[in-house]
Amino acid sequence: MTGYDVDVLVAGAGPVGLTAAALLARSGVSVRLVDAAAAPATTSRALGSHARSLEIYDQLGILGEIAPHGTRINTFVMHRGGHPNRLDFDFGGLPTRFPYMFNVDQVIIERVLRGQGAAAGVAVEWNTGLDSFRQDEDAVTAVLRGPDGTEETMRARYLWGCDGGHSTVRKTLGLPLTGEPAHTWLIADALVHTDVDIDGVHWLFARGGTLMLFPFPEPGKWRLLDTTGEGQPDDPEQIARQFSAKLSRALGRDTVVERPSWASKFTIQQRAVPAMRLGRCFVSGDAAHVHSPASGQGLNTGIQDAYNLAWKLAMVVHGHADARLLDTYDAERVPIGQALLASTGEVMDTIMVDKADGTGGPAHSPR
Ligand SMILES: Cc1cc2nc3c(=O)[nH]c(=O)nc-3n(C[C@H](O)[C@H](O)[C@H](O)COP(=O)(O)OP(=O)(O)OC[C@H]3O[C@@H](n4cnc5c(N)ncnc54)[C@H](O)[C@@H]3O)c2cc1C
Repeated sequence: MTGYDVDVLVAGAGPVGLTAAALLARSGVSVRLVDAAAAPATTSRALGSHARSLEIYDQLGILGEIAPHGTRINTFVMHRGGHPNRLDFDFGGLPTRFPYMFNVDQVIIERVLRGQGAAAGVAVEWNTGLDSFRQDEDAVTAVLRGPDGTEETMRARYLWGCDGGHSTVRKTLGLPLTGEPAHTWLIADALVHTDVDIDGVHWLFARGGTLMLFPFPEPGKWRLLDTTGEGQPDDPEQIARQFSAKLSRALGRDTVVERPSWASKFTIQQRAVPAMRLGRCFVSGDAAHVHSPASGQGLNTGIQDAYNLAWKLAMVVHGHADARLLDTYDAERVPIGQALLASTGEVMDTIMVDKADGTGGPAHSPR
């Protein structure tokens, strides 16, 4: 079968698919961006954006829209026996105009990216899931399922799977997501009545586990993380009581946590694919690598995957480069996914309490 309806079909309109589609459309590539969900996600996820992502937002022209919604994080604060010990970040050696970590809610980043895509002519087609596909020499034939269950068969020169951890693209390509589950953590977003520094990430030791506090830009709002995984996320009052008690003990003073606006318990997976391209199909973001959120890398790395591939696809689609250029995506990004497993694994080990000694100290010293 020859011919195609569109240059690139992007499956998944999370931060990675949105970045991919916006960059392609700005380069004059025809794109369809479909998402199986009915609407954008509103749950809390990524908070931290790092220097390279900030550079990409800047190049996309959206940093100005994002910046008012975020705040800089300057320090890591380790609390021992009620005493804070500030370990100030120094990213001064990085060759970047943005040598800092910036906390901004993923919901905001996605909203701004959707605006960018729309301005370039790509609107998200919600309620439109990629059901199945096959590729031949000329294109990919994809079956999309619409809101009323109707099927549409379409052809795209390339298929870009940005469809998250349960990726249909990855599974259909038969790419294994190899690795292992790590720890189960409890996480919640809530107002906390505390006097700890709001420009820092806080690390506290509680018997049997570690607590972490990440500030939101909104006054008083924090993300709370408990590495013991104890608690019932569907019982917000219980979660509030549990965090209040544990934080009060760890800080050595009464600390009140209000009813969380969101709570979840999840098992961290440390996994990555061995290849990110097969023929005319690609995977990026969580579709290609999933890992602990402890070092805040998932969204950042996924956006950087998209940035790596978009200009190459545009060059090939426009006939300015040979299709062999696309091989460099896989060659450059697979090692990054693998390196992430190692670095996020190290961070996880560092923040976990050595349960064996039960004394409430870190398993390793912070780097
Ligand atoms: C609690 C938490 C905290 C985190 N903190 C950070 C952090 O501080 N920094 C950081 O960088 N990362 C963080 N992350 C990770 C970050 O949220 C993810 O890495 C990021 O969302 C991945 O983006 P994505 O676009 O690859 O996938 P997703 O955001 O999962 O988007 C995938 C999209 O694909 C759609 N989809 C799925 N299947 C199909 C299909 N068959 N057809 C069409 N559409 C489909 C889904 O509906 C979804 O919209 C955190 C995650 C969690 C859960």
